[in-house]
Amino acid sequence: MNDHVTISTFQLFARFPDAESARLYLEGRLWPAGPVCPECRSSERITARKGGYYRCNACPNDYTFTVRTGTIFERSHVPLHKWVYASFAKKLGIPQDVAIEFNYADEQKARKGRKK
Ligand SMILES: [Zn+2]
Repeated sequence: MNDHVTISTFQLFARFPDAESARLYLEGRLWPAGPVCPECRSSERITARKGGYYRCNACPNDYTFTVRTGTIFERSHVPLHKWVYASFAKKLGIPQDVAIEFNYADEQKARKGRKK
């Protein structure tokens, strides 16, 4: 992430209103030159699919991945924009434990929601 961020909490929420906007942002950070397969590190034969999914045609079985694959976000059920908020919160001087708590509560909610 950029070390010279001068963005207010308000701007942050306006910039990333949903998971989609955060995904596009993270994709731009992770893949400045376009999607890269996390499995074979190739960017040659990637097909974009709906909802942020990409297929690598160079990998066996048409390996499918997202910007979350292979990152700390992969196993989380927290929407991507919440993660972006959490990483910016650190830069805004919001204590990290508060940001983590925020995400944790959200994740618990998401888990409960799925059980129903
Ligand atoms: Zn691949």
